[in-house]
Amino acid sequence: MSALLSRFRRPGACLAAALLIALFLATACGGSASGHSTAAAPSVRLATPPALPTPPGAPDVTPPPTLPADLSLLTLANKLRALPANYVPPDLVPIPREYVSSAGEQRLRRPAEEALVAMLKAAQSGGLAIKVNSGYRSYDYQATVFRGEVADYGCAQALRESAVPGHSEHQLGLAADLTSADVGWGLENSFAQTPEGRWLAAHAPGYGFVLSYTQGKEQITGYIYEPWHYRYVTPPVAAAIEASGETPTEYLQALGSASMVNIVTPVASATPGRDACSST
Ligand SMILES: [Zn+2]
Repeated sequence: MSALLSRFRRPGACLAAALLIALFLATACGGSASGHSTAAAPSVRLATPPALPTPPGAPDVTPPPTLPADLSLLTLANKLRALPANYVPPDLVPIPREYVSSAGEQRLRRPAEEALVAMLKAAQSGGLAIKVNSGYRSYDYQATVFRGEVADYGCAQALRESAVPGHSEHQLGLAADLTSADVGWGLENSFAQTPEGRWLAAHAPGYGFVLSYTQGKEQITGYIYEPWHYRYVTPPVAAAIEASGETPTEYLQALGSASMVNIVTPVASATPGRDACSST
């Protein structure tokens, strides 16, 4: 966030300099012209005081992005924050079949679905076919997915790449695993190097989506790099996350701890360990 703040400071300094010049010119040139004093007033009103330097250790005062009216769109679910088992998003809608690669229906919350379809249509108009492999997952379905991961890869690896039920962003109805023909409509790291993966990396934030589990951040996000897992957070918040250089995990955590996000009451829980593999 400090990088964002420093960018805001420069215009402030320029405005202050412009104010000083404007005041000097008004005094030097307009002092004897009666009736013209009001003409100088707007330029004074336009000026804003320069930003005060932030004292060392002071809290970051970067203005937050415009937050959505429905703050549940910013709910954080991760290894330390579990959703209630009975939480089902209120506004799930089906994703059009032409944008789904897997068998069966895939759904997302309505704001995420609308943004996703707009994004995939834009990619399509550029000759790129991107589809959803997996959208909303219920608590029970996530349990099935996790059990499958444990069976296929063992407990330790399953915990690195799949969420224990209750801890998945897919249960929020705000996450979509995206894929293309270049990776056989599967979920592969090489997706990042495909034209579709590159296009998403560049354009997804404009539609309100960010990559949840970025490269080299497993210690923070709790999960291996997943270049296919996009999370909807609204366009202003996606832009703020991109500018911050933080992971969505860190950014949404900070928003929540600043009491700005009234979420769907996830509960704190211990980091899932090996016992999670036998209890699900
Ligand atoms: Zn995913």
